[in-house]
Amino acid sequence: MKEIVFATNNAHKLQELREIVGDKFKILSLNDIDCHDDIPETCPTIEGNAEQKARYIKDHYGYDCFSDDTCLEIDALGGEPGVYSARYAGGDGHDSEANMRKVLQKMDGVPMPERTARFRTAVALLLDGSLHIFDGRVEGIILTEKHGDCGFGYDPIFQPLEGDGRTFAQMAAEEKNAISHRGRAVKKLVQFLCSKQ
Ligand code: IMP
Repeated sequence: MKEIVFATNNAHKLQELREIVGDKFKILSLNDIDCHDDIPETCPTIEGNAEQKARYIKDHYGYDCFSDDTCLEIDALGGEPGVYSARYAGGDGHDSEANMRKVLQKMDGVPMPERTARFRTAVALLLDGSLHIFDGRVEGIILTEKHGDCGFGYDPIFQPLEGDGRTFAQMAAEEKNAISHRGRAVKKLVQFLCSKQ
């Protein structure tokens, strides 16, 4: 089975991805290759950040690698939190509760038709020296309060348009993967990898 590094240690993402990929590839995490570096993510776009992370692993560890970067774009906030989605509420990021609080505060009073938003994911794959970018997106609305306990990040306040009124945090992992930004980008990645075999 071919080994490819997924440049993350996010347990949620690894689980989501391993479910999509099945047993076609052995997906290694950063822990699996003993990489504990603070990988730079300094680009102004998700595509740039995804490529930057994949190149770092290839350059420093030699593995074929893919990396993803995701943003939440809220129209009423001029596209925020955007590339700063992880650290929207400040600090070193990844405080989902604080991030959601900030979004809900800034959107206080915004009526429902104007609460449109989307998640966008870029996946960068470095394979045999070539770079390939895959994208995925899902349109939705930002609710006025949290619903559900599953998933991570902004899931409790994001209701996809294609669903049945539930937020991502109210869906099982397979349901979310079927329509999610990352699910779609990763499906393109997997199709590409399968075509290579
Ligand atoms: P990352 O680039 O995948 O780390 O995503 C940046 C930030 O976007 C994360 O810290 C999360 O807050 C948020 N995010 C990414 N993917 C999802 C998702 O599937 N659901 C909800 N929030 C997400």
